[in-house]
Amino acid sequence: MVPGEENQLVPKEIENAAEEPRVLCIIQDTTNSKTVNERITLNLPASTPVRKLFEDVANKVGYINGTFDLVWGNGINTADMPPLDHTSDKSLLDANFEPGKKNFLHLTDKDGEQPQILLEDSSAGEDSVHDRFIGPLPREGSVGSTSDYVSQSYSYSSILNKSETGYVGLVNQAMTCYLNSLLQTLFMTPEFRNALYKWEFEESEEDPVTSIPYQLQRLFVLLQTSKKRAIETTDVTRSFGWDSSEAWQQHDVQELCRVMFDALEQKWKQTEQADLINELYQGKLKDYVRCLECGYEGWRIDTYLDIPLVIRPYGSSQAFASVEEALHAFIQPEILDGPNQYFCERCKKKCDARKGLRFLHFPYLLTLQLKRFDFDYTTMHRIKLNDRMTFPEELDMSTFIDVEDEKSPQTESCTDSGAENEGSCHSDQMSNDFSNDDGVDEGICLETNSGTEKISKSGLEKNSLIYELFSVMVHSGSAAGGHYYACIKSFSDEQWYSFNDQHVSRITQDDIKKTHGGSSGSRGYYSSAFASSTNAYMLIYRLKDPARNAKFLEVDEYPEHIKNLVQKERELEEQEKRQREIERNTCKIKLFCLHPAKQVMMENKLEVHKDKTLKEAVEMAYKMMDLEEVIPLDCCRLVKYDEFHDYLERSYEGEEDTPMGLLLGGVKSTYMFDLLLETRKPDQVFQSYKPGEVMVKVHVVDLKAESVAAPITVRAYLNQTVTEFKQLISKAIHLPAETMRIVLERCYNDLRLLSVPSKTLKAEGFFRSNKVFVESSETLDYQMAFADSHLWKLLDRHANTIRLFVLLPEQSPGSYSKRTAYQKAGGDSGNVDDDCERVKGPVGSLKSVEAILEESTEKLKSLSLQQQQDGDNGDSSKSTETSDFENIESPLNERDSSASVDNRELEQHIQTSDPENFQSEERSDLMVHVDKRITLAAFKQHLEPFVGVLSSHFKVFRVYASNQEFESVRLNETLSSFSDDNKITIRLGRALKKGEYRVKVYQLLVNEQEPCKFLLDAVFAKGMTVRQSKEELIPQLREQCGLELSIDRFRLRKKTWKNPGTVFLDYHIYEEDINISSNWEVFLEVLDGVEKMKSMSQLAVLSRRWKPSEMKLDPFQEVVLESSSVDELREKLSEISGIPLEDIEFAKGRGTFPCDISVLDIHQDLDWNPKVSTLNVWPLYICDDGAVIFYRDKTEELMELTDEQRNELMKKESSRLQKTGHRITYSPRKEKALKIYLDGAPNKDLTQD
Ligand SMILES: [Zn+2]
Repeated sequence: MVPGEENQLVPKEIENAAEEPRVLCIIQDTTNSKTVNERITLNLPASTPVRKLFEDVANKVGYINGTFDLVWGNGINTADMPPLDHTSDKSLLDANFEPGKKNFLHLTDKDGEQPQILLEDSSAGEDSVHDRFIGPLPREGSVGSTSDYVSQSYSYSSILNKSETGYVGLVNQAMTCYLNSLLQTLFMTPEFRNALYKWEFEESEEDPVTSIPYQLQRLFVLLQTSKKRAIETTDVTRSFGWDSSEAWQQHDVQELCRVMFDALEQKWKQTEQADLINELYQGKLKDYVRCLECGYEGWRIDTYLDIPLVIRPYGSSQAFASVEEALHAFIQPEILDGPNQYFCERCKKKCDARKGLRFLHFPYLLTLQLKRFDFDYTTMHRIKLNDRMTFPEELDMSTFIDVEDEKSPQTESCTDSGAENEGSCHSDQMSNDFSNDDGVDEGICLETNSGTEKISKSGLEKNSLIYELFSVMVHSGSAAGGHYYACIKSFSDEQWYSFNDQHVSRITQDDIKKTHGGSSGSRGYYSSAFASSTNAYMLIYRLKDPARNAKFLEVDEYPEHIKNLVQKERELEEQEKRQREIERNTCKIKLFCLHPAKQVMMENKLEVHKDKTLKEAVEMAYKMMDLEEVIPLDCCRLVKYDEFHDYLERSYEGEEDTPMGLLLGGVKSTYMFDLLLETRKPDQVFQSYKPGEVMVKVHVVDLKAESVAAPITVRAYLNQTVTEFKQLISKAIHLPAETMRIVLERCYNDLRLLSVPSKTLKAEGFFRSNKVFVESSETLDYQMAFADSHLWKLLDRHANTIRLFVLLPEQSPGSYSKRTAYQKAGGDSGNVDDDCERVKGPVGSLKSVEAILEESTEKLKSLSLQQQQDGDNGDSSKSTETSDFENIESPLNERDSSASVDNRELEQHIQTSDPENFQSEERSDLMVHVDKRITLAAFKQHLEPFVGVLSSHFKVFRVYASNQEFESVRLNETLSSFSDDNKITIRLGRALKKGEYRVKVYQLLVNEQEPCKFLLDAVFAKGMTVRQSKEELIPQLREQCGLELSIDRFRLRKKTWKNPGTVFLDYHIYEEDINISSNWEVFLEVLDGVEKMKSMSQLAVLSRRWKPSEMKLDPFQEVVLESSSVDELREKLSEISGIPLEDIEFAKGRGTFPCDISVLDIHQDLDWNPKVSTLNVWPLYICDDGAVIFYRDKTEELMELTDEQRNELMKKESSRLQKTGHRITYSPRKEKALKIYLDGAPNKDLTQD
């Protein structure tokens, strides 16, 4: 991998070329349909530089080197393997080519651009591309294959042929495929494109991002100038303000077309282009009804952007054979007779009439919409009609202009009499927006009439209604989905092209015929199963009129702003290309650094150009990690690192000037390894890490002190024996190798003593990063079986020890001075290891550090006591429940050096925790190391001295990530569900006994704004009656809440969130009649009088009277029913309100208690008077106490409100309901309108159907 060595080897190998392995390269040119099935084979010496391979390929295929990419084609790594670098001096062998095997490569576009053809005169290559605007590339003899252009799938070959056309495709955004067809059609319409170019965007006036015409302009310029195979349409769709796919799914291309034209018109108001869309695309037709008795005709004029043509006549199974037939049908009048007779205004009676449409004017660009999408009312499915319908390349529309129109008597009536017109114009059979537009009807009607005459006359005379087809929009697939593309004839070379998203290819007239639909066989065979699903659904014709037919503007004819735009877009594309070039040369690798001061592992991503040296990369990493203020640069280096195993793989001595690309093994966006920015103190030196070494974290165990030291890292080799490894460690930590015991911790709780001196580390299971415990003291423990040894016990305990943070109660009686009196020593079996350090006051103060040291020493003392006990039995089953407290003086002056390691560790723990917490907290924190195999009961006993009360008088709450606290009550469970650094809160109060539950008692205040008020925590026990619990509550309520209650003047009832539920009867027993769970909640309700609820069969509902005449709701009033009968409810309601029984109406409240509802809605919105006789059936389902019932007097009239009063009330209600948390919902069933969002007026709806 060292470049110096490589270079030296090259000449030597060339000398022995005959023996040198060869690399077989098989290259497939995927950019060109002609060559895709051919393969270029090169058999090169393995030492050939990659650069040379590119030259050879370029020569063979005839492309300019550097205008194509070579990517791996073997299929395995292609996704994450970047293209080969055509300038690389690396040998094929080093570039991962395999000698003696087939190395498959694909030749592809570079940066989305097609390879440039190497011409005889090589200087012409660049120019020919630059000059290319519209028109085919000068590629000789290229004939697009046409057989597969209709294929739905992007077959390999169809991808290839468009590169030859010179046209740029459009990338298919999800669900926007018909947009691409429309955009390409508009782009290929000279009159539209030229007009769009004439319009000038004023940046000062609007945001370019939301300007539709401007984004269209940019797109068109890119379609003309981009060197890419296809470009994105995202900027255009963004200018619409449509949020991606959703808007597109429901609508078709006609709608999009209309909506986009409207948007353009809006933006173009007051400009030269103001009427452009109408001039180009809008036609006029007349909708008429003619009385067959008197000849009077009622009519109105409509405009259209496209003519919708049905595929099959209504009720017929046979389709129209051609567009011409369908057009005739379109204007074929229907006779209104029999029951459908028409009321003639002149005859003043119902007469037979003729109703129909007449074309008055055809637009310059005529759009025919083939209504292939329909709705099948028998199956209720959207269907697609695939029937064959032919369309001509030239369409004579003169036959569809109604000459009769002029002669008919209504023409006179129209011009003569505006009044009659007006009446007829407002015929409700037509729905058109013009009717909303005052005065327009008449204006258009008169004006158009004369205009029509002119057009139709001149049309007849000059016979100039010949239209030329130039765009066929095709849908391929079913009604459920499919693909859209467009076949468009270029007006510059009369050639047809298929614009299929990113693929543009030449096609023929025959290909157009294939889009007629139906089966390719004889006409009349309509089985849709066999019919092609690929067919035209929209046709665009242009009037043949030499005076009007425009050519595309030439480059030099462009307005200045377009020339500037072309320049700007070209520069942008160049810039993007440069950016991609940089990307291509940038190695992106994860970078870690253990911050030397904060001791926190930091992570970042290092992006470094492949040519930057290691030295430069170190500097970048140094700045990135913000170490400038912390340590000097020369105390940092980058090493190869494996974060997952926390393994330092190798260092890079002597590679300071090696480029990173080489060091990392190529340019990639992700690597299988990471880098670590390693730091040293100025007086330290960096070790050299060689590949193949393993890392071992050595923890020294001191059996006497029962301490495990912080790790020291050494590096070893897998083929080292245990004996050799011991010597290595002996040197590193200065302990005798002879008595050394090494224990490997392979994973949690898997401790393995390395006992066979000749075994290798590999055989013992060492891997990249390892953790060992080392002990070397001359105790008897050395001779014991490992499983019985003290070392094992110590390590086992160590592995199970977790650190917990305990928050003590504020006024804990266990103050520091008292604490020693409760210091517990021993009593527990050997598996309990607890050491508690109390932290009080700001961190770093002398006092707190002393406290820590003291605690540690106390711990040591306590452990040594334990050890003595272990000596005589080692019995782990010995009960911990009988705690004997022993008074031990604080041995402040017994610190010995063996504790120093632990102490240092402790200091670090304190330092890493946020000092602010300690300063701001009134309460004091305790950090506890505890063996998680002890029970909660034992743990609590250990905490007693710190809390200062017996364990039965405090509660343990576990704090979860969300700061939620849950009480831990199961005394026999171990702490195994806890993990390192969990938090615990201690609260004073009686701890629960078995069968007891902590219960939160809330007061129910039905008529308050906040009906649910917390009172106190109580303890209920299994087997207790409700009455007993009430008795216990009375003194607590008095003391804690100042509530003086007598036993028969309050009740307890079920609380489900905020809903009052079942009323608990005094004789109910908890856990028998009433289920309690931990963290249970209950409602307490103060009663006005004696409790009426005596039996389970009673039902207590909350009633509330609605007074429509005052727009007011009365307060809640409880009604106790003896049964679920509706009659009883009505009787009771009548009783309490005085409303006559027959006038009572009631409704169930909606939602959760208090079922709030706006007074503006209640009268209509609730389901008043449900048709039921009992309350416990649908739709009421009132089965439990606490349901809300509204009632009213049906004779009471709703108050009449002025608008002002209504608004006032609405405001008041919405603020009231917001306060009570009632959500105000609006009807969600609002039709989603297809709309392009404009700052201007709403869109005109031109829908004709
Ligand atoms: Zn009539």
